[in-house]
Amino acid sequence: MTQNDEPRSGFDGGYDRYEMRPEIEAGAVRVSKTVAAAARALGPRNEAPRLEAEVLLAHVLGVGRAALLARPEMEIPPQARARFDALIARRVDGEPVAYLTGTKEFWSIQFEVSHDVLIPRPETERLVEAALDRLSPARPQRVADLGTGCGAVAVAISRERPRASIVATDISPRALAVARQNVTRTGATNIRLLACNWLNAIAVSAFDLILSNPPYVPDFDPHLRRGDLPMEPRLALAAGPEGLEAIRSIVAGAKPRLAEKGALLLEHGFDQGTAVRALLKNNGFLGVFTLRDYAGHERISGGHK
Ligand code: GLN
Repeated sequence: MTQNDEPRSGFDGGYDRYEMRPEIEAGAVRVSKTVAAAARALGPRNEAPRLEAEVLLAHVLGVGRAALLARPEMEIPPQARARFDALIARRVDGEPVAYLTGTKEFWSIQFEVSHDVLIPRPETERLVEAALDRLSPARPQRVADLGTGCGAVAVAISRERPRASIVATDISPRALAVARQNVTRTGATNIRLLACNWLNAIAVSAFDLILSNPPYVPDFDPHLRRGDLPMEPRLALAAGPEGLEAIRSIVAGAKPRLAEKGALLLEHGFDQGTAVRALLKNNGFLGVFTLRDYAGHERISGGHK
């Protein structure tokens, strides 16, 4: 790691001067030195500079990270090196690694992602778990995933419950195009994609489960300026002054679309549990509950009809 090195203001091509020149002069640009130099360019504010450099170099070379690490002395062709440098420069400018590689793993499945979709978060796997607890593998239940983005939640549920019949919606046609790619590449056959603003194009019906990871960050939350969030679609993140607008629409519209005993499950902000439980109760949901994520924060709330 580079924690003891001098802080750098950003990627300035400087690592070429300091690290690469001896190797370039020797005619061989090798994995180990390239990763070390790139990690140095990414640090010190980056939490995992070495890992990120490895992931990006493996991506450029079209190999897995393990294969890359197994061959530290492997030479990097000049074109690959140029592509890698360009990716490191974009990463230094704040672009998320997932957008640079175009992929993100969720529920042990590789998903395609682009600037048109939120990058799937590990805490959303808790939403999938909560859904699976309510879906029997034996019965063909009906599920709606609202604001599906890249389709991660719908595809994960589809994989675990192949007998379910899933409708996945998004208001963004570009997001739906990404979801379509993911449905196709994962071979899910029980997902129907639908362009729709929360529930408005979904007829009064009988879903056994409606679930969503909606936007829930308050409009002026400083969190929107941190980490990967500035580069992610605002539409997928921010939802009014308290971050509750999308959740309000969903809770208000869900009951007529649920079967008897049908459940609603929502991901929300760590400090929104009380508000979301109140919304669910005020809209007549029964058995209202909240689950914590693995960081111990209130993250998923739900209830049933
Ligand atoms: N959990 C995300 C974050 O705060 C927000 C995701 C969302 O709004 N659905 O980084």
